[in-house]
Order: sequence, then C-alpha cells, then structure tokens
Amino acid sequence: MDKNQVWNAVLTRMNEKISRMEFHTWFKKVRITEISGGAVLISCPTEMNKNWLENKYHSMILSSLRAVLPEIEKLYFDVNLSLADSAPSNPEFFEKQKSRKLPRKPEVRFSKGLESRIVNPKFTLSNFIVGDENRFAHAACTAVAESKPRETKKYNPLFVYGGVGLGKTHLLQATANEIQRRNPDAVVIYTTAERFTNEIIKSIREKNTERFRKKYRQADALIVDDVQFFEGKEQTQVELFNTFNDLRDMNHQIIFSADRPPSQLTQIMDRLRSRMEWGLSVDVQMPGYETRLVIVQNKAKELGIVLPQDVQEFIAANVRRSLREMENILNKISGEIEFSNGSPTVQTVGKIFRQLNPDDNILSSGDAKKGLVKTPDEIVTVISEYFQVPATDLLGNSRKKEIVFPRQMCWLLCKDILKMSYEAIGHDFGGKNHTTVMHGIKKISHSSRKDSAIARHIHALKKDLGVR
Ligand code: ADP
Ligand code: MG
Repeated sequence: MDKNQVWNAVLTRMNEKISRMEFHTWFKKVRITEISGGAVLISCPTEMNKNWLENKYHSMILSSLRAVLPEIEKLYFDVNLSLADSAPSNPEFFEKQKSRKLPRKPEVRFSKGLESRIVNPKFTLSNFIVGDENRFAHAACTAVAESKPRETKKYNPLFVYGGVGLGKTHLLQATANEIQRRNPDAVVIYTTAERFTNEIIKSIREKNTERFRKKYRQADALIVDDVQFFEGKEQTQVELFNTFNDLRDMNHQIIFSADRPPSQLTQIMDRLRSRMEWGLSVDVQMPGYETRLVIVQNKAKELGIVLPQDVQEFIAANVRRSLREMENILNKISGEIEFSNGSPTVQTVGKIFRQLNPDDNILSSGDAKKGLVKTPDEIVTVISEYFQVPATDLLGNSRKKEIVFPRQMCWLLCKDILKMSYEAIGHDFGGKNHTTVMHGIKKISHSSRKDSAIARHIHALKKDLGVR
C-alpha cells in the first residue's frame, strides 16, 4: 500500500465520521509524506490546519490508520505551504458536485460490526420460554420488534425490569436480533450502560464526543441494558438524556432494562427518570416450576445433553432464584458428562447444587413434582381461608390464640413443604426471631402427635396445597 492508498483509507473513515464541512475544510489539502518505523508524518498546508488535526482529530486519524496499518504508533504533523496551491491528493473525495448526503451505508456497516460482537444471535424471542411471570414483557418486546421503523411507537421507551438472571438481557438482545432480521437496513445498537459510560468517558478524553453523538443519533433502535449502572453518573446521564430526546423526537425506538423499576432508580436525575417512565414499564419475575421445567428441557437440548426426567424435575425444583444459576448448573453437568461419560443422576446433580449453594435446602425430586413447590404467600392464603382469619393477622404480631395457632401452622408448612429455614420464615412473617419460629413449629408438631384433630388439619391443609 502506498502513502496515497493509506491516506485514502483514512479519508474514507473520516468522511463517515465528521461533517462534510469539517471534512472539506481540514482534509482537502492534507497528505501523508512519510511512513516509517511505526510513525506517520502528515503534512498540512497551514499552521492552523496542522493545529486542528493535531488537537481535534489526532486519535481518529490514528485509529483509522491502524485499521489498515496496525503497527502505527505515532503521528507527526508538519506544515508545507506549497500544499495550499496543490490539487487534493485524493480528488474523488472532494469533487464539487458531489455534496450529496453523507453515505449512510458505510457508517451503518461500521457500527453494526462494532456492536455485533456483544449481541448474541442465540437469543431469540422464540427460544424465550413464556410463563405468567414474563408473559407481558415478552409480548411488549414482540410488539416493539414488529413495529415499523420511524413510525410512531406505541411503547417508547420500553422499560424492562427485574432481578438478576431473569431474562432481561435475553429479551433485549432477542428484540435487537428480531428488529434487525425484519429490517436489515436498520441501525440497531445494543449496548450496556457500562459500555455506554465507558465510551463517553473515552470520547471526552479523546476529544471526539461528536463522533460518539453521531453514532448514537443514527440508531433506529437504541437498546441500553442495565441502566441502574448510570446511577450517580451525572455527565453520562446528561448525554443519555440528550440522545434520548433526539431519538424519541425522530420516532426511533428506545429500550432500557434495569434491576428495578424507573421509580426506584433514585440516583438518576428526575428529568431522565421521568422519561424512562414515559412509555411502558414491564417486569420479569422468576418463572414458576412448570415454566422452569420447560426451560431446563430447552437449554439441555441446546447444549446437546440428555437428562432423565427426574433430573430435569430436580433442577427445575431447585433453581429458585435465577435462571443464570440454571445455566451454570447445566454447563457443569454438560462438562461432567463429557468427562465421565455417565448419565447424570439426581445424586450427582444434587452434589453440584450443594457445591454452588451450600446454604440452600435441597428439594428432593419427589418434592419437585408438579404443584408441590409453593410460595409462603400461597400457604398463608390457603391457611387464611381454611381457618377464616385475615392474612394480615397471620403475618402480624397478635397473640390471640385463634391467630397464633394458624400462624404456627403456616410456619410448620413453610418448613415442611418449602424447606425454608427458621430465619427465612421469621423474615417473611414480619421479621420475627428465628427462635420464636422454631418454638412455634416444635410446639405444633408436638401437639399434632397427641391431638388427632391437629394432625387432621395438617393433612387437610397439605391436601389443599396439593401435597400428599
Ligand atoms: P438478566 O439479564 O435478567 O440478568 P439473562 O437474560 O442474562 O438475565 O438470563 C440468564 C439466563 O437465563 C440466560 O441464559 C437466558 O437465556 C436464560 N433465560 C432467562 N429467562 C429465560 C426464558 N424465559 N426462557 C429461556 N431462557 C431464559
Ligand atoms: Mg442482564
């Protein structure tokens, strides 16, 4: 590649990144005069031109150069007054009549290539398993993906929130993939709040915030994951706020996710937070047992591993907090199968569970059978109906006998069915001490052994809860 070709590559990229006007003013009479030993000498027609390149475009030029000559480390600039009267070295970039609009395509390709590394094509809207706990979020993402670019958006922004490992990133990337699939020419930018922040910091440091702004303003869909990361970062919030306004004015789609609803993002400035609430906010929660079972089956299939039914049920029953945990476990199982060649059993998988969560109570796969795994809320509801006492009293502190007995019954069932710890039960029942809970449970199981009426109550309640 000769100097002219190298400069041509630089001009191509600069032309995409800066305005036509700037491009003409500062690059028309510039050329490379020397390339040697990792350094490039760039000659400018005037002192001012030199200063401008040196101060404003230095890093852009350098990175463009490195795209074609990765070994380049340093740029030098000098002034060569005779260049002022010369013709441009690459006239095709500066032809008069061609003041057409900025070519859109190269820029699109550039940013797509840049972002596609972090969007995983394996996340799709169809391999997201839908249950009651995430149905609305999935439907909203589907609606967003199906809407036409540049038309008024029904949900803008769409805000998806929920705890760790419940499928937010899966949904956001799946939506990005689906928008791109339906509109191959659209510029879809998926990024995380962390990346977005780092990019801003970098662009400020390198004095090319304009390029940053341009990149995000061309997005037909901008998707920002985990925006709780913006909390307390004021400068980044201002930048996002401005981007948001511009995109929304143009009817471009914006999607956010966070671990909390916008209203609880306390360290996000009011005007940005209120915009986050402008569209639709939807939550994802931990799917129930049956949905989890389908997810286990699907993920196992994706990993190419065969799991016996009881192992599938065991995993679905015991992964109770996040689906990322499920992913970890399946990966571990898949690794072990490769090593040992044996089929996983409830026992071997149980061991993996205990390693990962030493404090958790393991539910046997018998317990795991459909319908047995309930929440404390369900137990309270059933007992409240059975004994005709208000649920709030069961969770409260009343010492009346007709309340204390059903309350202790709740504790017993939480322990028996859900394998909850005394601490966890105490916590869920209005912050009671674990010894209080322990004594309550002891008392009631002791009396049930002597008093057949109490034993019958327990039996009937378990039946109501779907437990034998
Ligand atoms: P988050 O971003 O909310 O922390 P992720 O999207 O990273 O969670 O989800 C963690 C893992 O669980 C991913 O592998 C994802 O594919 C999987 N997952 C979550 N929800 C579902 C679902 N409904 N169907 C299939 N897989 C899911
Ligand atoms: Mg995530």
